[in-house]
Amino acid sequence: MNVYDSARMADVLRPLGYGPVDRAEDADMIILNTCHIRERAAEKVFSELGRLRLIREARQAEGRDTLLAVAGCVAQAEGEEILARAPYVDLILGPQTYHRLPEMVARVARAGRTIIDTDFPVETKFDFLPEDAAPQTEGNLTAFLTIQEGCDKFCSFCVVPYTRGAETSRPVPSIMTEASRLVESGVREITLLGQNVNAFHGLDGEKTVTLAGLAERLGTIPGLQRIRYTTSHPRDMDQSLIDAHRDNPLLMPFLHLPVQSGSDRILKAMNRNHTADEYRDIIRDLRKVRPDIALSSDFIVGHPGESDDDFEATLQLIRDVTFASAYSFKYSPRPGTPAAGQAFQVDEDVKDKRLAVLQALLREQQDAFNASLLGTTQDILVTGTGRKTGQLNGRSPYLQPVHFEGDPALIGKIVKVQITKQFTNSLGGIQSKETAAF
Ligand code: SF4
Repeated sequence: MNVYDSARMADVLRPLGYGPVDRAEDADMIILNTCHIRERAAEKVFSELGRLRLIREARQAEGRDTLLAVAGCVAQAEGEEILARAPYVDLILGPQTYHRLPEMVARVARAGRTIIDTDFPVETKFDFLPEDAAPQTEGNLTAFLTIQEGCDKFCSFCVVPYTRGAETSRPVPSIMTEASRLVESGVREITLLGQNVNAFHGLDGEKTVTLAGLAERLGTIPGLQRIRYTTSHPRDMDQSLIDAHRDNPLLMPFLHLPVQSGSDRILKAMNRNHTADEYRDIIRDLRKVRPDIALSSDFIVGHPGESDDDFEATLQLIRDVTFASAYSFKYSPRPGTPAAGQAFQVDEDVKDKRLAVLQALLREQQDAFNASLLGTTQDILVTGTGRKTGQLNGRSPYLQPVHFEGDPALIGKIVKVQITKQFTNSLGGIQSKETAAF
């Protein structure tokens, strides 16, 4: 979501004459868009600010000014701390106020001191963002689109409800307009974003539309070929969304569905509001309607109170479900969250050991999944040329990077590729004779 937000910040600043540059040394304004989800990410902000300060001083010596801003969730949660530790920062703004950036830039020039704006404004930023620009990635063929923000779930370990605020969904017409513009500009694959994306309940006039309904409406946009969504919560995986994986051909057979732990005791302590078996049931139902669906997940090891048995239950869930990929982390206490103050914090060396065991199992499953595709023919969205001459890059339905030899005229098309090689984080193939590009 920060990638999306950064692009939207660039959109609101463009009318003021700002445009992107490659090096901080050349920038009249530097915005650090920050993440607060893990301790390390938040700490990195302060070391990065120290580095940027030196760049600013060097520019100052040459008579050039640099506006320094911190945006995103660290700014939201630790605005005062930033002010104390890095008083040279000009602007501190949260994720819900970046549509006010032009006004803040004007104010900072007048005020001559740090401006902080970490409100949760009544107005939604989406009503104030320019409509004529859109964030795009991978050769302008894939794009993120935020449809929902915030969260009301209050998992014990998570800062999101405090930094992004309460769960809100964008109205459907505004999403459709942005999606249509993206597709008109060449985008073929859209990833719908939200902290709790499958809790989406956007209004279309008087009617409330679910994520399944939104995906169906998006399917009517000519030229859009793929839809993904992330990140989901198991509690919001309703039957209409499960059925959409059978009925909506644009929905890719790949789902990121975080479970965090396989132990009911820890799931309860995490306030996840579901059991490990309920998670297994959702996966079973998904595989029933879409047998080729592959799963990805998030895992936290070492949540306060996690015993060896709890950890073993997580390993068992992984063995039962089998994942094509996953993100796994050691628990780190985030200030202000319920878990941070709990007794029975797990020792760091225990967390290290558990993480290594868990990641080895997940790696094994990822390799096995990639190996299972060898010899199969996959639809690959061609996103650009590769590093080697004559090579094209693309992405599979399962988000794997795939390299193969082909005509650059295929960029932007979906072609059939027979998978012949497996690398650590990518696949290789040859364009299939039955290529029916569209
Ligand atoms: S559902 Fe996700 S975003 Fe919401 S509190 Fe839990 S982990 Fe955080």
